[in-house]
Amino acid sequence: MQGSFSPSRRRFLQTLAAGALAAPAAAQIPGERPRRDPGVEVLNPLARVPVSIIIDDSTCLVNLNHFSIPQFRRAWDYKSYEQDWRSTPREIPDSFVRKFGEWAAENGVKGKYSIVPYPACVGRLDIEVPGWTRQELDASIGLVRDLMTPNWDIHPEMITHTRVIDLKTGHPIPECNLQTMENWRWSDNRSVDELASYMSYALRILHNIDLPCEGVTTPGGFGTRALPQLSQATLEACRDVYRAEIPHYFRHLFDKGEESVAPRVEYAAGLDTDDPRCAVSIIGCTGDWTGGWDASTEGELDRFITPDLSAGRLVDVIERGEPACIVCHWTGVYWNGREVGFKIFQEVVRRLHARYDHLTWMKLGEISRYWAAKELTAVEKTAAGATFRAPFAAPAFTVAIEGPGEPRFQGKPLQRVGSAKQLRAGTFAEDGARRIVCFDLPKGRSELSV
Ligand SMILES: [Zn+2]
Repeated sequence: MQGSFSPSRRRFLQTLAAGALAAPAAAQIPGERPRRDPGVEVLNPLARVPVSIIIDDSTCLVNLNHFSIPQFRRAWDYKSYEQDWRSTPREIPDSFVRKFGEWAAENGVKGKYSIVPYPACVGRLDIEVPGWTRQELDASIGLVRDLMTPNWDIHPEMITHTRVIDLKTGHPIPECNLQTMENWRWSDNRSVDELASYMSYALRILHNIDLPCEGVTTPGGFGTRALPQLSQATLEACRDVYRAEIPHYFRHLFDKGEESVAPRVEYAAGLDTDDPRCAVSIIGCTGDWTGGWDASTEGELDRFITPDLSAGRLVDVIERGEPACIVCHWTGVYWNGREVGFKIFQEVVRRLHARYDHLTWMKLGEISRYWAAKELTAVEKTAAGATFRAPFAAPAFTVAIEGPGEPRFQGKPLQRVGSAKQLRAGTFAEDGARRIVCFDLPKGRSELSV
C-alpha cells in the first residue's frame, strides 16, 4: 500500500511518531448504532485474538517493482525513485506463490492477497499481459483461485497501481505527473461516484477472471484527501460489482502507539431494514518490516516479536486483545528471489505460535463480518437471557453473559467445554459467574437463554 511514497517521503514519514499512514482524525463517520445492553458483552470470535497478514502489491506473474518504478520516477520528474529497477526480475514466479501458499495453509495463516488487475499498465489480466502466454496467465490465475482464495481475500489495488486509466478509453491519461497517478493526487477531493466508478472498473477485471472479492486496498496515497468518499465508494463499488454484503478496505495503519487498531465499522445504515449496509476499515498494526515494498531492506524481524517472545508490536497489540493485522508487500516477501520477507514471516509465525495458544487466523473479510456483527447487532437482556437482532450473520459469535445455568441458543442446549480455549460454535465455558457462549449468529432475530 504505502509502496508508492517517494523514498524521501517514506523516510520522512518513518520518523513521525504516529506511523507511516496514520489516519487523519475525524474523517469517516460510523453511521447508525443499535442499542446494546451492557449486561451482554460481545467478545472476540472464540474469545481469541484475530491475526492476519495483509499482502500488498501482488498480482499474477508481473513483478510490480520492475514495471512501476520507472513510471514513479517519471511522475516525480526524475527527482526520486532511483532504484535500479532494470536489475530486478520482471516476474515473481508461480512456483513462489505455491511455496508461500502451501506454507501458509500448513500453518493456518490467513490474510489478504492483492491482485492488481492491470499491473503497472503492462496488461489486463482478463485480456492480455504482454510477456506471458494466455496459458501461463490462466495457470497463474487458477493457482490464486485454488490455493490462495480459501485462506486469503483478494483485493484490487485500484486498476494499475501506477497510471490513472481514463475509464472512457481504457488507456492511461496521457499526462504523467502526480495528478495522473493512482498513488498520489488524482483521488484528491473526488466525489463518491467518481471513486466508485474507478473502483468498479478494477473490480470488474477481477470479476471477469472469476476471482472472489469483497474489498479493496488503496495504492500508496490513494484516497488520502477523500477519506469519507473512499469509504462510501468502497461500499458502493463492492456491492455493485460483487454483491458483497460487507465491503471492507485497507487504507490505514498505526505501527506504534496506543491508538486502537480495531476495525472501524463505517456508514452503517438501514439496520432495521432488509437492506442493511456498512463498510469496514481494516487497520494495519505494523509497518512493512519484512523486505520493504522495493526490496531495499533486510527487514526488522524483532520489531514484530523479539526472540525471547517478550516484546514487539505484535505482542503489544495481541496483549490488548485487538486484531493484529501485519502489513507487508509481496515484492519484499519475494525479494528478487532471496525470499527475505518470506523467511521473516516463517520466523514471526513460529514465534507467535510459540508464545500464544489463543490466536485465530482470519481473512480480512472474516474480521470485517465479525466486527460488523459485533457493533451492529442489537442486544437486549431479557429475564431468560438475551435476544439479538442482527443485520448480518456471523460465525462463532461469542458473548459473555451473567448466569449460572446451562445456556440454550434458539432453544437448543449448548455443549459445555472445559475452558474458553476449547470454544467452538455451539459450546459454552464457565468464567466465574459468567458464561462465555459461542454460536453461529443468524441474520435477523435470535434468542439465548441461560
Ligand atoms: Zn501497494
